[in-house]
Amino acid sequence: AGADGGADTDDRARAADLARELEEHAHRYYVLDAPTVSDAEYDTLMRELEAIEQRRPDLRTPDSPTQKVAGSYSTLFTPVAHLERLLSLDNVFTEEEFHAWAARAAREQPVTAWLCELKIDGLAVDLVYDNGVLVSAATRGDGRTGEDITPNVRTLRSVPARLRGAGVPELLEVRGEVFFPTARFTELNASLVEAGKAPFANPRNAAAGSLRQKDPRVTAGRPLDMIVHGVGAHRGFEATSQSAAYARLAELGLPVSARHRVFAGVDEVLAFIREWGEHRHDVEHEIDGVVIKVDEFAQQRRLGATSKAPRWAVAFKYPPEEVTTRLRDIKVNV
Ligand code: NAD
Repeated sequence: AGADGGADTDDRARAADLARELEEHAHRYYVLDAPTVSDAEYDTLMRELEAIEQRRPDLRTPDSPTQKVAGSYSTLFTPVAHLERLLSLDNVFTEEEFHAWAARAAREQPVTAWLCELKIDGLAVDLVYDNGVLVSAATRGDGRTGEDITPNVRTLRSVPARLRGAGVPELLEVRGEVFFPTARFTELNASLVEAGKAPFANPRNAAAGSLRQKDPRVTAGRPLDMIVHGVGAHRGFEATSQSAAYARLAELGLPVSARHRVFAGVDEVLAFIREWGEHRHDVEHEIDGVVIKVDEFAQQRRLGATSKAPRWAVAFKYPPEEVTTRLRDIKVNV
């Protein structure tokens, strides 16, 4: 007992409360498409739990929200086992934190090039092509099992039903982000309100809600788009780096962002982060940061991953913006 005993109990109780709260928010966000707190508030709760576990490693259990991919799947959809796990990303919020992350990675494994790209604020989707034919599309779910949304994804114009060109791989699993173009978001909410339905809180939510529909005709009526940013299981797909893989994916007809850049030095990476921080509204989709990846696959493999995220990539998150959308009499805080 005594003062230490009190602190011990406080930490334990607070960690349990935070874990419960984070699970609840994740359920609302991933399964119900109806979050009740902003992403920044969610991130703050996660950071608080991380800080407690840093101080008290005995409270860091394998099922803690800090240790696993957030998310679940709804029983409304058929579960799909991913061929390879879909992971989350670790976050940094300041240039100092990014420096520390990059130095740690480079200490373990010399890094010859960093690939920088925009962090699309949409929802993660996994596609499987069997001999060039799209056979499955699924949400991330808990990282191992997602929801079958194949008929819905087939309605996206940018997702090819069949890969094109020579040397189509025997098997190709790709991961990317489905998003709702920002310019069309106000329009969608106005039409939902018109029809007496609840509007979406933000474009990310609109993307998730439009894609996770039992009736794919609803999805077909929404202007969803996709950008691919990762490769999972594959046979007959040759690439030695992330950037080379993107070039190959583009040749196969998959939608890849033209905005990624490869840099040798951390200072150039920081310049990219600052540049897009100033231009984050000049993009057709919302971005919540920049993702920095070790470019070479051999170096990625040597760095490996934790139970939650790769050690060879990190998300630099931009500070939250306080946006309030007034839609007639409905006020939605984003
Ligand atoms: P994350 O969104 O921070 O990062 C991981 C995801 O980023 C990946 O799954 C991937 O799909 C996506 N991504 C986008 N662009 C990418 C790119 N270029 N390269 C690689 N990946 C890219 O982490 P998360 O685990 O998906 O979700 C956690 C985040 O979701 C939280 O930080 C919070 O912002 C939000 N969230 C909010 C609530 C809420 O209630 N508001 C609840 C749960 C989660």
